[in-house]
Amino acid sequence: MPDQVTFSRNVFLPITNVCRNRCGYCGFRRDPTHPEANLMTVDEVKRILEEGVRFECTEALFTFGERPEEHQLFREWINDLGYSSVIEYLVDLCEIAIDYGILPHSNPGVMSLREMKRLKPLNASMGLMLETVATLPAHEGCAGKIPSARIKTIENAGRLKIPFTTGLLIGIGESMADREQTLEVVRDLHQRYRHIQEVIIQPFAPKPDTEMANCPEPSHQEMIDVVTIARRILPDDVAIQVPPNLTGFPDLIRCGASDLGGISPYTIDWINPEAEWPRISDLAKTLGNIRQRERLPIYPQYVLNRWYERGSKLGDLIEKYADRDGFRDGH
Ligand code: SF4
Repeated sequence: MPDQVTFSRNVFLPITNVCRNRCGYCGFRRDPTHPEANLMTVDEVKRILEEGVRFECTEALFTFGERPEEHQLFREWINDLGYSSVIEYLVDLCEIAIDYGILPHSNPGVMSLREMKRLKPLNASMGLMLETVATLPAHEGCAGKIPSARIKTIENAGRLKIPFTTGLLIGIGESMADREQTLEVVRDLHQRYRHIQEVIIQPFAPKPDTEMANCPEPSHQEMIDVVTIARRILPDDVAIQVPPNLTGFPDLIRCGASDLGGISPYTIDWINPEAEWPRISDLAKTLGNIRQRERLPIYPQYVLNRWYERGSKLGDLIEKYADRDGFRDGH
């Protein structure tokens, strides 16, 4: 069992819910013609960042549908803002977040090496859920969910020395052997590049009006089994993260999970809007004797080993927030 459990304090920015993929379990995605299809404006982003500052958040979690500009209508929206792709737009949003004093952590889906090179100087860390290496009906027709494309993105992050978050989605039709194989792929990538800071073990949560609305979510015991296997397969310097709003996390911590991810005191979990975050002030009571410690979106070992450009705006901000151990100073 870990002697401490970490989390970061974030604001969640769902920049767009338009996506080229159609995952069978996704309740977030909207077609561009849907009345709830969305592309956040700079003013909307700034309003959330302002609140993030007020709530002392250090992480701006930028989330997207993947490559939405493959839809003609969305392309018109993004062109109207003066950009040719959502990743181009993201570059400017990251700069704005840094100017507000909040560290970007972006999850725009599968990216090219070139795109990642552009984003690295503006992101404390980045992420892409590998989900699974299995080919599943839940991902049928989803170009971005071809496992090799996702592995390539994670590998490119390693080549660029980007502290990286990935994870498994549990209960979307994969077997236990698939989960083990997925964990082994992540382990091998980390052994090559040393860049995986955390692996999220996330349970599938059925959403109304989706193909998988009537599929069962994984049992608590299944989550315990996966976390136990993950702790056995992954190297010690890779944290296991479990979402505190979707899991009975105290049991999972007893099996080796040591991180609760971003917890927002202001914004909801836009991917699982029905699941409320716990209050940060209540964590100590739930965790009992286990120490809770706030971290930045970049894990301490990457702060201490300076996986960022010193003297840059991003580097200055990381150093302003970090204590001598690389965690959040004063929290
Ligand atoms: S890639 Fe993400 S946003 Fe797009 S459909 Fe799949 S789960 Fe939803």
